[in-house]
Amino acid sequence: MQLYQEQTLKITNSLTGKKEIFKPINEGHVGMYVCGPTVYSNVHLGNCRTFMSFDMIFRYLRHLGYKVRYVRNITDAGHLEDDADTGEDKIAKKARLEKIEPMEVVQRYTVDFHYILDQFNFLPPSIEPTATGHIIEQLAIIKDILEKGYAYEVNGSVYFDVKKFNEQYEYGKLSGRKLEDMIANTRELAAQSEKKNPQDFALWKKAEPQHIMRWPSPWGDGFPGWHLECTAMSTKYLGETFDIHGGGMDLKFPHHECEIAQAEASNGHSPVNYWMHANMLTMNGKKMAKSTGNNILPGEMFSGENDILSKPFTPPVVRFFMMQAHYTSILDLSNDALLASEKGYHRLMDAFDNLKDLEPGETSDFDIREWRQKCYDAMNDDFNTPILIAHLFEAVKHINLIKEGKEKISAPDKALLLKTMTDFICDVLGLEHKSESNHDTNKLQGVVELLIQLRNEARSNKDFATSDKIRDQLAAMGIQLKDGKEGTTFSVS
Ligand SMILES: [Zn+2]
Repeated sequence: MQLYQEQTLKITNSLTGKKEIFKPINEGHVGMYVCGPTVYSNVHLGNCRTFMSFDMIFRYLRHLGYKVRYVRNITDAGHLEDDADTGEDKIAKKARLEKIEPMEVVQRYTVDFHYILDQFNFLPPSIEPTATGHIIEQLAIIKDILEKGYAYEVNGSVYFDVKKFNEQYEYGKLSGRKLEDMIANTRELAAQSEKKNPQDFALWKKAEPQHIMRWPSPWGDGFPGWHLECTAMSTKYLGETFDIHGGGMDLKFPHHECEIAQAEASNGHSPVNYWMHANMLTMNGKKMAKSTGNNILPGEMFSGENDILSKPFTPPVVRFFMMQAHYTSILDLSNDALLASEKGYHRLMDAFDNLKDLEPGETSDFDIREWRQKCYDAMNDDFNTPILIAHLFEAVKHINLIKEGKEKISAPDKALLLKTMTDFICDVLGLEHKSESNHDTNKLQGVVELLIQLRNEARSNKDFATSDKIRDQLAAMGIQLKDGKEGTTFSVS
């Protein structure tokens, strides 16, 4: 029996706006697609929050016993600066400015993305496909949509015909917009004259002679439109209809709306059963944006090198901070909020550590089974991590009382409590016990520095027997002292 058979998971479906019972297409299996980063700059903390929300969702689905195929793409071509299919390709622009190959840009920022996610203890997705690796699949979909009459070619570019599509299907159903209103609210721009309607979007763009990222196609050299890659890759790896599609709230329109339109035009039916959108991270109450400077990189969090921070914060503390908000709520980052999270994180982890050493008694004063189900209920209610964390602190309270001898816990209950805490803290929330090792490193440093000081005192008293003993015994433990002009330093081997 798998956990998913006894726990009823509900998910807020952006398509219906309702909390629905989750039922995968194939029992025991989940297909999940999440729009990945456009790799033209360092991943910022707001993006990390979106991906972390889906990492937590991936982790909980796995914890419930589902076999999850999680596809998160890398956008390495086709993402233009403007949603209206104008402006330069973001990656090509960066390559031009830095005088390097577009694929060097892609490689550099893909490595950075993986490095940062690794620091945050993300699980890797099952498949991480790239847009440039799926040009053939994208061309096939364009041909299909053209044949079905929902797209048209102009001057080597192919556009999706939104008005035509809307006669048969419903454009705007995910974002709650009506095409008539969109048409009424737009003024025709001369630059958009190639399109029949401003709402039409590019499936394929003709590459101008100076455009460095280009592929041959039946319509001449060009490159794919941004929305198309996700339709191509999700269909290829998860099928024409799959369970969950996720992304940041800002992708709902036009990106996800266009994905639905492409898939419906091509396959004749809806591609996704549950659409999920993660909310954004603000900083000191304001939207994060590179242009205003109200922005922070993950590396700056870990080093403390940003004016809004009074100190560095470790990756697990930042992760804990993010998990304290529901993924559909806006979360505001501030130094005070981080300090409070850090305190909470240590309180939770200290109790988690102490739990292993508790002396079990005959009976328990705390109903572990009931508490454990409350933890599941929180997660089953649309992945409510803040409520889960509140329940974990309920356990912290009891652990501390047991430690003080004011409450009791039986041996089997202690084992169940330990298993449940490990499941939720490590597996589901993805909190690594890194700070403990940081804690230990600080302690080790303090101890060795104390010994260096005692050795210096011994040496100034010409007590060389003691000073040599300190040096040799530390060396035997793998700690080398090195005397230099600036004093004595040490290294651990
Ligand atoms: Zn996408």
